[in-house]
Formats: sequence, structure tokens, C-alpha cells
Amino acid sequence: TALRQAQGAATNDELFDRARQAIPGGVNSPVRAFGSVGGTPRFLVSARGPYVTDAEGREYVDLVAGWGPAILGHADARVVEAVQDAASRGLSFGSSTPAETELAELVEQRVAPVEQLRLVSTGTEATMTAIRLARGFTGRDLLVKFAGHYHGHSDGLLAAAGSGLATFALPGSAGVPAEIAGLTLVIPYNDLDAVRAVFAEHGDRIAAVIVEAAAANMGVVPPLPGFNRDLVGIAHAHAALVISDEVLTGFRVSPAGWWGLEQGETAYTPDLMTFGKVIGGGMPVAALGGRAEIMQRLAPLGPVYQAGTLSGNPVAVAAGIATLRAADASVYTRLDEASVIVADAVSAALAAEGVAHAVQRAGNLFSFVFGEAVAGGARDYDEVQRQEAWRYPPFFHAMLDAGVSLPPSVFEAWFVTAAHDDAAIARIVEALPAAARAAAAA
Ligand code: PMP
Repeated sequence: TALRQAQGAATNDELFDRARQAIPGGVNSPVRAFGSVGGTPRFLVSARGPYVTDAEGREYVDLVAGWGPAILGHADARVVEAVQDAASRGLSFGSSTPAETELAELVEQRVAPVEQLRLVSTGTEATMTAIRLARGFTGRDLLVKFAGHYHGHSDGLLAAAGSGLATFALPGSAGVPAEIAGLTLVIPYNDLDAVRAVFAEHGDRIAAVIVEAAAANMGVVPPLPGFNRDLVGIAHAHAALVISDEVLTGFRVSPAGWWGLEQGETAYTPDLMTFGKVIGGGMPVAALGGRAEIMQRLAPLGPVYQAGTLSGNPVAVAAGIATLRAADASVYTRLDEASVIVADAVSAALAAEGVAHAVQRAGNLFSFVFGEAVAGGARDYDEVQRQEAWRYPPFFHAMLDAGVSLPPSVFEAWFVTAAHDDAAIARIVEALPAAARAAAAA
């Protein structure tokens, strides 16, 4: 570090100061600013396997994994080679490519409800388009979403619930017209009575329910057994569609995402599904897919418009294909193992310091809620908010000081990669006692 500074390399503090001059808040996505944990964000310059390295030359074991895409670990040689090879043949054609069809077929082979797929560039676009498509298909306007679920930053999804069981939402952000937010009904998660009530009252006006297949944007909150199945049943009884958002869970928690984990008794078939993150292997690819009858309402076949200069970008698609091809059974076995080892180790360290908590798990995704009030686990947004959230920032910083990079908010999932080997996990485990003490003292 001394050498790098002598050579004129900037510190994280200097880089953050400079970034804040040029970029609002110094970041291009708010959570990166460390707003909820305080301190200076690390400016990363490289990553490999389970590690990331900051501008000061410090290496961290990474439990963010690019917010999900890096299931193989960072800079996996197969993915990097595929990207380099594609890049050498041209960066963007604005025309169809054989690789786009290949990626669509890979998804359709894995996820049976997806008969056809349209590629876009971000999860936000995928959910925004899925909602437009559901409205175009049903001829209805209302959308139901669950409190605490995140589906990107399009207007109708930045809607916060007011009080009451089924509420016409208020804007969740400045700049969202009340008329737009008012088309979104927000209800509590994991509450089938609330689903029945909203359909009883507004059923003939509801185009779709959008739901995270397993909620992971308020920390992890898995669906109760049968929740997704019964949600689909109720929506279909009212001729409304279900959009299952697998931007975060898709191709991460199993080869067929969360949908793939719920076979047998709790099996369900969504009408539309959205994907992001892993499908692009760290590059900007996302997608919406579902029943062909619905998907064919998209332009150019149908009247629902959607387009994109960079949709199906050849370099990005190459990363997605290489990632899905490399994600064999052994990758998912390792993701599952690593997630159990890390989550159990964190839980044991917290327990050793007397910190009441619960581990929240959905497949290989996990997070923690702190405090007696939630020690039995949290099932919805209200319960998640009852936790002692202030215990997380000191825990987070103790881990960061010890060289472990966690999500910079208690309301985010933790992500392992298949490259989290014994050595990386040992570094996490070594850092835990001091972090648990910091959480206990908070
Ligand atoms: N849906 C879900 C479930 C997500 O987790 C996210 C992003 N974390 C999005 C949609 C939005 O994706 P993007 O950030 O690519 O727009």
C-alpha cells in the first residue's frame, strides 16, 4: 500500500471524494455508497475467484458476488475467454445473432414454464416489460406486489404501501406520479388471506401479481411452503397472470432457479418469469419469458411494444452462455455447501456472543435478522423491520477490517460462489468472533 501510494495511486477516501464531485453520491447505484453502514466504500479494481481487490491493493473475501451473477467465482477463465472471443468479433451489431437463440434455448431447456424468451439488458427492463405485457394480454391495469419485494426501479414498482391490508400505493420515490403508483396494490408477503382479499375486492381489474420467487431484497425471506402455488391458483381463478421474478434466484439457487426447487407438492407454473444477474454472467443481460401465447403479444408479432439497441448484445450474451454452460451439478453442490458452512459459522459466532438472531435461508441465499423479536425468523416486511438493525453496521465493519466484504446493508442477501474454497471460508470464519463481539456491543 505504501508503495502504491508513493507511486501516486489513490486511496479509497481520495477516490470517493473525487467520485462525489463527478457522480451524484459518488455511486451509480445507491447501496454502493455505504449509506446504511457508514464509512468509505471500497473502490474495486479487480476480482478473481472468491476475492475482490480494492484500489489500495487490499484483498477481501467477497460475499456480494456482483450482487449475484458470479456463481462460478469472479473472472472465471471460461467466461472471460468467451467474452474476449466474442469481443474480438465485434461489440454490437444491432442485428440478430445465433448466440441469442442459443441462450434462449438454454433457458427454455432448464425452466419449463419458459416457452419463449425475450432478452433485455437489466432486471428493471425485464419486469417493466413483463408488466406491460401482462396488461396488454389481459386488458387490465392493476398490478399487485408484495411489501418488501424489489423488482427494479420502473415507476409502477417504486410504490410503497400505506396502511391497511390491500392498499393502493403511494409513490415510493420522488418523480413517480401518484396516478402511476396508484395502479399498484401492495400487500404483505406470505399472507394468502391478503391475496384473497385483494382479489375479492379488485379481481376483475388486476392484470398481474408480481412476486419474487423467494424474497431476497429485504434480506432473505423464503416463501412459506405452498405460497407460490396457492398464489398462482388464486390469480388464475380471477384470470390474472403471475409474474415470478427470478432476477436474483434464477440459475443461482438451482439450475432452474427457485422454480426448480419447488417440484412435487408445492409445484407452480407462473405465466411469466423474469431473469437477470446469472443469465448474463456479470454482463448486462436480463430476460422475460413464459407462455408462448403471452410472449407472442410482444412486438413485432403483437401490439405490446418493447425494443433495445443493446438487447441480446453479443459480448454480454457470450458471458451468459459460458456461465450457464459451466454451471453443472457440481457448481450447485458447492454453492449449497459453502452457503451452509458460512451461514452456520456466522450463526454460531453470534450465538457465542449472546446475540439473538435468526438465519434466513432460501436455497443457497441467506441473510440474518438480529434481536429477540425476530429470533424465530421473519416472514414478511413488517417482521424484518422489527429487528435490531443497528447491530449490523459494526458487524459489517469488523468483517471488512478483517478482509471480508459483506453486503453493505442488513436488508440484502449474502452471496457465495462455487469458488469459495476452504481457504476463503477459513478467512471468513477467522473474522467472525470479533465481528460478533462488535454486534453484541452495539
Ligand atoms: N428483480 C429482482 C428480484 C432483483 O433482485 C433486482 C435487482 N437486485 C431487479 C429485479 C432489478 O434488476 P436490475 O438491477 O438489473 O435492474
